[in-house]
Amino acid sequence: MTVQVPKAWMKPADMRRVICHWTAGGYTPSENDLAHYHILIDGEGALHRGEHSIPDNESTSDGEYAAHTRGKNGNSIGVSMCCMAGAEERPFRAGVAPMKPVQWDTMVVVVAQLCKAYGIAVTPETVLGHGEVQQILGVTQNGKWDPMKLPFAAELTPKQVGEKLRAEVTAALAAL
Ligand SMILES: [Zn+2]
Repeated sequence: MTVQVPKAWMKPADMRRVICHWTAGGYTPSENDLAHYHILIDGEGALHRGEHSIPDNESTSDGEYAAHTRGKNGNSIGVSMCCMAGAEERPFRAGVAPMKPVQWDTMVVVVAQLCKAYGIAVTPETVLGHGEVQQILGVTQNGKWDPMKLPFAAELTPKQVGEKLRAEVTAALAAL
């Protein structure tokens, strides 16, 4: 995996966690998607920089930040895969833009690079999916389940997807 988050996208800031998402859109980021996440991963695995910088989320009091996770945007980096338009949770249907393995694999490396750059340890509280936030961080997220269901490994439960995310990020971090 040769993906590299540009240094200019990782300016120093007090960031304490990375929250992973999907956009629930198509394979290319919309204007709205760009406004809500720091880094987006399109259907080919290419990176797109969001409208807000990562340091913008050091503080949310000025209203200038990437709003990606209700009540947990402060000190939080938001990474999102552009996919899953029209997806349904139960019964699971991946919709018209199912998440591709290249998007997941790219996200894992991006998250590892962010953890290294910001000194974030990989734990359930610090590297997690949006769909885990309510249970792990205790802030209501109104039924969010991204990105806890993988169309290419649909047998995995959300809990297993969270464990997979952290195991793969830990391995990628060790390889950096
Ligand atoms: Zn989300």
